[in-house]
Amino acid sequence: MFEKYRKKSPWILHYNAGSCNGCDIEILASLSPKYDLERFGVVNTGNPKQSDIFLVTGPVTYRSRERLVELYTQMPEPKVVVAVGSCSCTGGVFRDMYNVEDRVDRYIPVDVYVAGCASSPELIIDGVVKALDILESKTKEMEFAKKLQNKPKIEDGIVSRKEMPRRVGENDEES
Ligand code: SF4
Repeated sequence: MFEKYRKKSPWILHYNAGSCNGCDIEILASLSPKYDLERFGVVNTGNPKQSDIFLVTGPVTYRSRERLVELYTQMPEPKVVVAVGSCSCTGGVFRDMYNVEDRVDRYIPVDVYVAGCASSPELIIDGVVKALDILESKTKEMEFAKKLQNKPKIEDGIVSRKEMPRRVGENDEES
């Protein structure tokens, strides 16, 4: 049941890994009634254990990197990471500064990159919508792995192919 509704009501976790706050303000703007990111069922939560989408802004600083990895590992699978702004994607204008370590994907896997300095609410919404599709695909992959755990049905000494799980996307036309 959770799998069915996860795409309709994903919860996001927002973390500033060292940004100048420009991208964070744009994320808040995208949640405001003008841009209304919440129309996709998104709820901004502060709890990693209840989050599906991780929005990260800014380059990773020495002080923030441990917390970044900790938050990521606390999120349940499946989860999607969205790097918001040039700094989180590449280090941006802060790259090679004494207090900046590196871009976000050096520490955690990133699924969606949202460009811009600062990134705009439209681009952030676009990134979250892409993240929803990736979340759905990851959910299906996990379901497929769970089905593989079931014992195959054997008819006349031959494994029944009717009961075999199909590959991700194979059932899409039927459903
Ligand atoms: S991309 Fe630009 S606005 Fe966003 S954190 Fe970096 S410097 Fe600030």
